[in-house]
Amino acid sequence: MHCQQIIHFSEPLEARDYPTPEPKGTEVLMKIDACGVCHSDLHIWEGYFDLGNGQKMDLLTRMSLPFTLGHEVVGEVAALGPDAEGVEVGEKYIIFPWIGCGECSVCKRGDELLCTSPKTVGTRYNGGYADEVIAPHPRYLVPYGNVPTELACTYACSGLTAYSALKKLSHLHEDDWLLLIGAGGVGLSAVHIASQVVKAKIIVADIDAEKRAIARQSGAHETLDNSDPAAALAKLQEITGGGAAGSIDFVGAPVTGSLGFNGLRRGGHMVSVGLFGDSMPLSLAMMPLAMRTIQGSYVGSLEEMHELMELVRAGKVAPIPYEVRPLDAANSALEDLKAGKVKGRIVLSPHS
Ligand SMILES: [Zn+2]
Ligand SMILES: [Zn+2]
Repeated sequence: MHCQQIIHFSEPLEARDYPTPEPKGTEVLMKIDACGVCHSDLHIWEGYFDLGNGQKMDLLTRMSLPFTLGHEVVGEVAALGPDAEGVEVGEKYIIFPWIGCGECSVCKRGDELLCTSPKTVGTRYNGGYADEVIAPHPRYLVPYGNVPTELACTYACSGLTAYSALKKLSHLHEDDWLLLIGAGGVGLSAVHIASQVVKAKIIVADIDAEKRAIARQSGAHETLDNSDPAAALAKLQEITGGGAAGSIDFVGAPVTGSLGFNGLRRGGHMVSVGLFGDSMPLSLAMMPLAMRTIQGSYVGSLEEMHELMELVRAGKVAPIPYEVRPLDAANSALEDLKAGKVKGRIVLSPHS
């Protein structure tokens, strides 16, 4: 097994070779065809999440080094453990990575995302910056039909995260406005999926003119330059006639969170998705006075993954832009993502 691994946090990944893992029990060995490079890979690479006010979440409490990143993985079944059933060698699947322990009470009732001992692929267990990976059970293998392999992988995180966040706002009406902040991989996925999930008109905020243009071409009704937060808020009020009914912050920085929250009208509902970090002040009086809701949304469930892929396989979701690079170019992919240079998704391929 060839892989690109974190040996030390914040230092360049290094190529490593290991013997091919042997699938045990219900495990399935997958030969990897493609793996998307996600923004959260940057945080794992750095080794912490910025919680604000000088506080950090140290990731060594939940994973160990060396570590293989990559949770947007598509591959071909190469071998089955003795108890793995329902898939055949040679079939290709997306690996649903957001896997729980399978044994606790929330996992048993199907809420694996709420599991406190998750076994996620590429964030806790070794992932897809490799040519082989182990999927713990065939139930996590999701078919992707005729969708191009390098695009299909992006649905495991960017597509699913967008879908799940949008579903939390499926109650919005046709004449409502939904503000999407950040038109990177996940935000742009949301623009593409939005019309399948919410009826509201879409306004996309991004500081990058090119990303705003892509969002507009992808179906956004309006776009907003939020490089000046006060001007952006005023413009948003003007466009929406008093505020958005819903907002999704795909960045998760203090300025974007503030725009998402302060840009809501009465009864507005903000969904917080991005993991940029730090903290923001919150006017507590405005919560009851304006009857606002803030909800966190992390990736999505296996059920939502199946719902999303049904839409995708039916051709109802336009593809996001993506660029394929060789697996061994993983470092430059992370650097470009960090520098904000990526439009859509970079996808690593062990074959190119
Ligand atoms: Zn991700
Ligand atoms: Zn569990």
